[in-house]
Amino acid sequence: MTKRIAAADTKGLAEAAEKLRQGELVAFPTETVYGLGANALLANAVAGIYEAKGRPSDNPLIVHVAQVGQAEAFAEVTAQARQLFDCFTPGPLTVILPKKEGIPDIVTAGLDSIAVRIPEHETARELIQLAGVPIAAPSANRSGSPSPTDADSVLQDMDGRIWGVVDGGRCQVGIESTIVDITGENPVILRPGGITLEQIQEILPECTLDTGLLKKPEESFQPKAPGMKYKHYAPQAQVIAFEGTAAAVRQEIQRYIVTHSEKKIGVFAKNSSSYENTLTLHWGETAQDMAKCLFHALRQFDKLGAEVILCEPPETGGMGTSVRNRLYKAAGFHIIHTEEREKQK
Ligand code: AMP
Ligand code: MG
Repeated sequence: MTKRIAAADTKGLAEAAEKLRQGELVAFPTETVYGLGANALLANAVAGIYEAKGRPSDNPLIVHVAQVGQAEAFAEVTAQARQLFDCFTPGPLTVILPKKEGIPDIVTAGLDSIAVRIPEHETARELIQLAGVPIAAPSANRSGSPSPTDADSVLQDMDGRIWGVVDGGRCQVGIESTIVDITGENPVILRPGGITLEQIQEILPECTLDTGLLKKPEESFQPKAPGMKYKHYAPQAQVIAFEGTAAAVRQEIQRYIVTHSEKKIGVFAKNSSSYENTLTLHWGETAQDMAKCLFHALRQFDKLGAEVILCEPPETGGMGTSVRNRLYKAAGFHIIHTEEREKQK
């Protein structure tokens, strides 16, 4: 059985850090989602992450450090990287840097670049500091499932597969870090997340979003971030995303409910919306609110036995882009664009 350690348990945290250092797998809270950590210097420990998650071996991992200086041992921290780290970290940002020697190939799936993140969550930083080694950590879910945003969700996927989970309550951001690749000619966002494109452009105006982020990948798709091609974030239920004005989306969702009355339907709706004869969970007002509870809600709908989950969309731009990216992937790009939206084009 996997051990649960309270974040406030100083002795427990020290033991978890020691276990991590020795090569055990320990899940821990960050401000984005829960990470599944292993000592990034030990190839065997890292192999355990791929096994516990059922993660394809060509999907590289993000290496977590407590401060920039720690990354300099294995990554080339360029002037541009330093600017990004200075502005946005500790925080929900991952930077892809040229890789130096010292980190086993299994961490980067053989790439000559490496993903580095400095989390803001106090417990995460304390754990990394106590372990005294860089920590490789993907999200602590079984591959393909919604990322865990609390310790119960970690245990739902990982109980018996990992040594322990540090319980720090619910994650504040709720979706993963923004990944910026600065190894090419211009910086590119490979995954939008807790930091928005607009925020990054204030520092690096030439930064753009990778063009494939909100589109269904073609069969021949060769993404820059290997993980982009895999199924992601999907609950058991079928997810359908809706796009359009609030009124048109509402009408379309209501139509769907009426025409599929035999199905157990869940609606993930703004605070102001309600639908009859459905399981409704509310996500709030802003895209930030939605990010915070999206993955939790997808898991919740599964527990409630929903067969289909219909989602009202967040605002466009900013965090709305990050949430859409997760939502579209969870939906396997099943998106209903309402007629009004079509007319506006
Ligand atoms: P996860 O660990 O599930 O949060 O996903 C990490 C993401 O970072 C995946 O999409 C990886 O493909 C991506 N990633 C990690 N390392 C690199 C790298 N060196 N170059 C490009 N993408 C990377
Ligand atoms: Mg993940």
